[in-house]
Amino acid sequence: MGRVSVVRARHVLTMGPAGELEGGAVAFAGGEILAAGPFEELAGRFPGAEVTGDDHGVVLPGLVNAHTHLSEALLPGMGEDLTLFEWIDRIIGPAGRHLTREMARVGAMLKGAELLLSGATCVNDMFCHANLGSLASLGVVDGLEEIGLRGVVAFGPEDLGEPDRPTVAAIMAEHEALAARCAASDLVGFRLGVGTVLGQSDALLATSARVAREHGWAVHTHLAEVREEVVEARRRWGRTSVERAADVGLFEVPVLAGHAIWVGQGEIGLLAGAGVAVAHNPVANMILGSGVCPLAALRGAGVPVGVGTDGAASNDSQNMLEAVKVAALLQKVARLDPRAVTAGEVLTMATAEGARALCLDGLVGSLEPGRRADLVRLRGDRPGLANVHDPTQQVVYCASPADVEDVWVDGVRRVAGGELVGHDLAALVEASRPLAAELAGRAGLGAFSRLAGPSDGRRRR
Ligand SMILES: [Zn+2]
Repeated sequence: MGRVSVVRARHVLTMGPAGELEGGAVAFAGGEILAAGPFEELAGRFPGAEVTGDDHGVVLPGLVNAHTHLSEALLPGMGEDLTLFEWIDRIIGPAGRHLTREMARVGAMLKGAELLLSGATCVNDMFCHANLGSLASLGVVDGLEEIGLRGVVAFGPEDLGEPDRPTVAAIMAEHEALAARCAASDLVGFRLGVGTVLGQSDALLATSARVAREHGWAVHTHLAEVREEVVEARRRWGRTSVERAADVGLFEVPVLAGHAIWVGQGEIGLLAGAGVAVAHNPVANMILGSGVCPLAALRGAGVPVGVGTDGAASNDSQNMLEAVKVAALLQKVARLDPRAVTAGEVLTMATAEGARALCLDGLVGSLEPGRRADLVRLRGDRPGLANVHDPTQQVVYCASPADVEDVWVDGVRRVAGGELVGHDLAALVEASRPLAAELAGRAGLGAFSRLAGPSDGRRRR
């Protein structure tokens, strides 16, 4: 079993049946949680344990980032004034034609580090690219394994709108290769990605739904992100994108869909009835001006909702604590009601409910015996959590990456003393720089990026 580790804090938020423990601790060994309870009790039960933490701060399950695109890891800071469809046409589409497996690996490590340092231990990624034949999405699995972040990885293709339309066979070949790569990984699982219902040809969407059913593969997609999507779907099929997804049989396997903003009662009933889960991405929704997710209606209907950062180019960070805080703020201001959502609800969404949305709820999302040891210790000796009157409210509203002191994934410490373990962050940043410049240059993003080519000395925009 190996040596037992005990992690203690003034407040342990188990997000499980044990609730909140004051003066609590979590014991684990061999990557598995053995117990969560009072520190004195655990110290007596595991006398030789390595103890981390003190009588301050907060311990909680590692945050589950329910939706991102590590394909955007090298592309933050462009096009803040664009709407979703403009941004895809002008930035994400062109870049996606030049992504390589090495860019995916390094980008996943770089943004994986940002996630770990903001308290996330699990990420649901959809790698979107159109550089078919490169098998670029497999690089994400390489990168997540190297940095030690748990994940679920999908390849999120679209074929409509691509100048050299990729064949359905080439796209399905990448899904198969990615599934095989994930099957060889202890930390990273697979989903079949559907970029968007609207962005896929009838042939690709039908094949994706059929292959997912045949393999029993869960699906990761986007649904009802912007109003234009619903309008175009109704124009094209006389149905909304949610109805279209149901029609083609996509909901016959477990589905996690990003956004679900432009949904009415009919679509919410359809999602709930089919057991579809949603990832809410408030920061990206606000940057792109996409809209406000009807959180209470979705969760009230029984739809599990996790919290996501969304991609590094539509957020534009991977700061998971920020996504959690903004998830609360957006609901309150949109409904002009401070009771619109509670800190406890948001933190549940970012942990246990996010794990359920990803079908990982037997594994992670709460601190209870038998679960994998994915946990975060927030220090209590910095301004953020110096005086904790209410740990749940203060994790949501006060904590920042500066408070993330220690992070374990599957029982392995990946952050210690606020620093990555086993990786030189500066060297990782350095390794990413030529790749970011190469990608921006090849994709012709000179109008948006100072890195895209030699400067002509003039302001670009
Ligand atoms: Zn997305």
